[in-house]
Amino acid sequence: MKRKVAQILKNEDSFLIVSHKNPDGDAIGSSLALYSVLKELGKEVYVENPTKPAYTYDFLPDYDAIEPVGNSKDVKVVIAVDSAEMHRCGLKNEYVKDKLFINIDHHKTNPGFGDINIIEPDAAAVGCIVWDILKEGNLPISKRTAEYLYLSILTDTGSFRYSSTSPKTFAIAGELLKLGVEPWYISSNIYESEKPETYKLLSLVLDTLTLYHDGKLALVYVTQEMFKKTNTSADNTEGFVNYARSIRGVEVGVLLREDESNVFKISIRSKGNIDVSEVAVQFEGGGHKNAAGGTIRLPLNEAIERIVSAFAFLNE
Ligand code: 5GP
Ligand code: MN
Repeated sequence: MKRKVAQILKNEDSFLIVSHKNPDGDAIGSSLALYSVLKELGKEVYVENPTKPAYTYDFLPDYDAIEPVGNSKDVKVVIAVDSAEMHRCGLKNEYVKDKLFINIDHHKTNPGFGDINIIEPDAAAVGCIVWDILKEGNLPISKRTAEYLYLSILTDTGSFRYSSTSPKTFAIAGELLKLGVEPWYISSNIYESEKPETYKLLSLVLDTLTLYHDGKLALVYVTQEMFKKTNTSADNTEGFVNYARSIRGVEVGVLLREDESNVFKISIRSKGNIDVSEVAVQFEGGGHKNAAGGTIRLPLNEAIERIVSAFAFLNE
């Protein structure tokens, strides 16, 4: 299947690449890697997302190439990356029905909504699957493309820390370094270029830290009021949920983020064997075993109660 996709990249001449809303480093990195390969091959290629990517990624040379989802580009091939569900990348059935629709993902809950589906739950990042496709087709991988793939792998493995990190992950990262990637250039832009107001917000968020279920569940939240007070937005909360999980004895960390009045985006992270994607599906969401998300439409106190009771099994 990867060879077939590589052939399509070589043979077709117009492409649209999309990824999930609120795109993370994997969604952006794997989209832009495909974008830059196709651009360098002289193809007509566009990249779209339902959300404007966070400022964290504005150092990337093709940041401004990412357009809002329009369902209007007249292309032959549409490629969705890192999107567990079709609606998460903003594509409409009407739009894709007369196009070749390729779905490349590593979420085990992906139902395979494309005409061609490459879904590899064991891949540490979609960037690893894109790497395989490019190698399979002997496609040229420039330094810029390599940087996008490295971004995807670095961020989705939590800087090569998560259990999804395998010998293959390191092998690909090693190849990317040989192609010119400078690890510090990427990591310093992602992890050491924070805006001061983000830490003002973080300080308010950490103040909400509460432990439940014998210290196994840690919960923090961020409200519209906190955003207002610190002149920040959802973009400034990337990684906050990790503080909740990082506490000794905690098995699950949760961040509730008030995106609209009484509408909370939930981010859930776990350690070890606890599969939080199963809890996320109870909240209009999904994801991976150790990282998942969803939505709750309730006032804060009730939202917290719902989450805490959904994790009552931690006491068993
Ligand atoms: P985050 O908490 O960083 O938004 O998301 C963590 C993981 O859960 C990601 O792999 C993301 O794709 C998945 N995820 C987050 N929100 C949702 C959602 O609403 N639906 C689904 N299916 N997956 C989600
Ligand atoms: Mn991913």
